Amino acid sequence: MVTENLTPRGRFAPSPSGRMHLGNVFTAMMSWLSVKSRGGEWVLRIEDLDPQRSKTEHARMIEDDLLWLGLEWDEGGLADAGPAGPYSQSRRGEVYEEYLRRLEATGMVYPCRCRRADILATQAPHRSDGRVVYAGTCRPLRLGGHVPDDAQAAGAALRLFVPGREIRFRDLVCGDQCFPLAAECGDFIVRRADGAWAYQLAVVVDDALMGITEVARGNDLLLSTAQQIYLCGLLGFPVPEYAHLPLVCNAQGLRLSKRDSAMSMEELRRRHTPESLLGKLACLAGLIPEEAPMTLGQLLPFFRWPVGSETLRLG
Ligand code: GLU
Repeated sequence: MVTENLTPRGRFAPSPSGRMHLGNVFTAMMSWLSVKSRGGEWVLRIEDLDPQRSKTEHARMIEDDLLWLGLEWDEGGLADAGPAGPYSQSRRGEVYEEYLRRLEATGMVYPCRCRRADILATQAPHRSDGRVVYAGTCRPLRLGGHVPDDAQAAGAALRLFVPGREIRFRDLVCGDQCFPLAAECGDFIVRRADGAWAYQLAVVVDDALMGITEVARGNDLLLSTAQQIYLCGLLGFPVPEYAHLPLVCNAQGLRLSKRDSAMSMEELRRRHTPESLLGKLACLAGLIPEEAPMTLGQLLPFFRWPVGSETLRLG
């Protein structure tokens, strides 16, 4: 086997829907340490596909918080520094359009007019995690048809056919994974009826065009990864390596959210120096045995993935 000697390239891809909390910072720190400990590069991409929830001022604050921590990016951000820009998804519509055409050429994309309520009505009642498995209601009997250009104007979303086979991958943190996509999510949306791009398509296109070799993010996105690997195959993109990190939980064992205001960067910056915050996270991840102020440079030699834990609980 020929092993390519690629410069490791990681990315941090926040959705600018609010201020970062400790969980987001943990992901950013681990992704940065992973690539920087191997002389790699780090890209900042703004995932502002959702116009209702995304605000430029939030993206500005995210950048400010990253810089306060010393988590500098080599490419991207609001300034669009680098050759693969724009680095904000809201300005990449033309790029997604081009790759949607390529997907359509595989014959596996079809228009769908189901509403969420209709989809839920076809669900088995036991699914409690809010995930929706599409039953294939609008799937044509024969795939391979041309997708009409006015599908969106006619109020249809575009869905991608998912075959019965399993998607397998080895995650750097969670180990071997196997997802029967048809049972886990069914045919999924690549463009919404209102014309908005689906996260799955945008991420796959962006990671490929931005040369990302390693994706580090929360383990709540494991199923998305299986969908994204499937998309990579259809679009002929190389599959990056994945590291799905444990979710940071509060003292009650619940995943951090915007409601944990004590863990938002606003509050954390009041109570910590960058070094004490980095040391706290490094200790939580098991990189250092005891909490002590650390710079990013000091943490580089200690970097390893926190293998085997699903959550990390704050004391
Ligand atoms: N934008 C997503 C988030 O902030 C992250 C997606 C990803 O890392 O692929 O949760």
